[in-house]
Amino acid sequence: MDTTWDCIVVGAGAAGLSAALVLGRARRRTLVIDAGKQSNRHTAGIGGLLASDRRPPLDFYETGRVELANYPPWSCDPARR
Ligand SMILES: Cc1cc2nc3c(=O)[nH]c(=O)nc-3n(C[C@H](O)[C@H](O)[C@H](O)COP(=O)(O)OP(=O)(O)OC[C@H]3O[C@@H](n4cnc5c(N)ncnc54)[C@H](O)[C@@H]3O)c2cc1C
Repeated sequence: MDTTWDCIVVGAGAAGLSAALVLGRARRRTLVIDAGKQSNRHTAGIGGLLASDRRPPLDFYETGRVELANYPPWSCDPARR
């Protein structure tokens, strides 16, 4: 795999995954490095986010990673996820 990246995003929470999604849509090869400690990971459900109200946060993040797969190569540092 070519490991030349256009962008590196630190953190795969809502902000980092959203940034990586926008970068992917702009055809940028993006590396996401994450320690897997999203701030809301212990709560039972997200509150007040349209289309995701009461959704378990870990399910939300997994769907985000699936959506990123629609775009140019990206990688989430597996050792730290
Ligand atoms: C208990 C709780 C419940 C919440 N409930 C709601 C709610 O119901 N509705 C709502 O709108 N908001 C809620 N929030 C707020 C919401 O979760 C946060 O605003 C949002 O998750 C912040 O996203 P973020 O991507 O900025 O940061 P985070 O979710 O904190 O993600 C940051 C990520 O970056 C990683 N990281 C940081 N530094 C490094 C590094 N140096 N190297 C590698 N990785 C790194 C962390 O491990 C983490 O995975 C809640 C927050 C908490 C704490």
